[in-house]
Amino acid sequence: MVSPNSEFNDQSLMNGSVNHESQIGTSPIHRLDGAVRAPYSIQFELTYRCDLNCVMCYNGSGETIGRELSDDQWLDIVQHAIELGIMEAIVSGGEPLMRGKEFVTCLLEELSDGGVSIHLITNGTFVDRDFVRSLRGLNLRIIQTSIDGHTPEIHNVIRQGRNFNDVVAATSLFASHGFYCRVGTTIVKMNEEHIEDILELAVSLGAQEIVIDQFLPIGRSIRNYDRIATSLSHEDIRKEVERLSKAYADLITVRIGMLCQDQLRQCSDQEVNDSIIIRPNGDLRLGCMAPFTCGNVMDTALRALWETGGAYAWKSSKVVEYVSRVHDNESMRAEYQKLGILHGYENETI
Ligand code: SF4
Repeated sequence: MVSPNSEFNDQSLMNGSVNHESQIGTSPIHRLDGAVRAPYSIQFELTYRCDLNCVMCYNGSGETIGRELSDDQWLDIVQHAIELGIMEAIVSGGEPLMRGKEFVTCLLEELSDGGVSIHLITNGTFVDRDFVRSLRGLNLRIIQTSIDGHTPEIHNVIRQGRNFNDVVAATSLFASHGFYCRVGTTIVKMNEEHIEDILELAVSLGAQEIVIDQFLPIGRSIRNYDRIATSLSHEDIRKEVERLSKAYADLITVRIGMLCQDQLRQCSDQEVNDSIIIRPNGDLRLGCMAPFTCGNVMDTALRALWETGGAYAWKSSKVVEYVSRVHDNESMRAEYQKLGILHGYENETI
């Protein structure tokens, strides 16, 4: 565990363009009025648990991993995040609804009452009409479901569970109740020839957006790599997304996920971090592609963790070196292996 102040002892934090003067008004984390700049966004990973076992899950979710925050602890943390001043919350898991629909609704209400814009990610298994109705009136900007195949055979073999009918019904329910629905699709060997078919399914369900992503070579992907590696390059996928984007412009927004190295560089270029993840056990983690934690919200208050480490964590020497070594999927996979991170949920402490 890192003490609240130890991140400041990291020499790299004092190098280069970042100068963490503690004087209010001169530090990048302080606004001119002296108030602390909050992270724009926090991703709340409510649980490690998942009813599915997707072959490419970057988090390795669904496995028995260990202690999770209680419902009350999560509600407290959310309150602290609101007080800190976040603008956006990404609520995910594992599968967040495995924490119980009543609890998730309660947490979303708290965020909404706090004026926070919400992005909910669910695999759809536990979504029913009552749950969808319970979300009406909340500040839900995006609801994201994952569809990896246009047929049950393809989707279910990738998701390793009988989820196709559920996610189709859930997406349709969300859309028919007026929510902005994004479908996330990850390209693996089993669906690489069906990108347009999946897009057409998303359109038929009423989704407004589809994001086509390459799988991250971390988490469960490491173990399943040979089974799922696609023959499509990022450039192939980019061209296809460009074509589909034009062809379906009147029906749906089509986006491509960023390359892992580009995302990492974009994050590490920021003077002050603008987003952070809170893991199911309370660890504060940099990002889904950066397996570094800088403390636990059960040991140190969220605000203190943020001010003393989280805000500048991308400038720590360990993270800078990691980012400099990731040039593509292969090098990211090698870095995770070097760190002994075989499942996706282990972390390095900075
Ligand atoms: S990708 Fe999502 S649905 Fe699949 S195992 Fe991971 S958390 Fe569960």
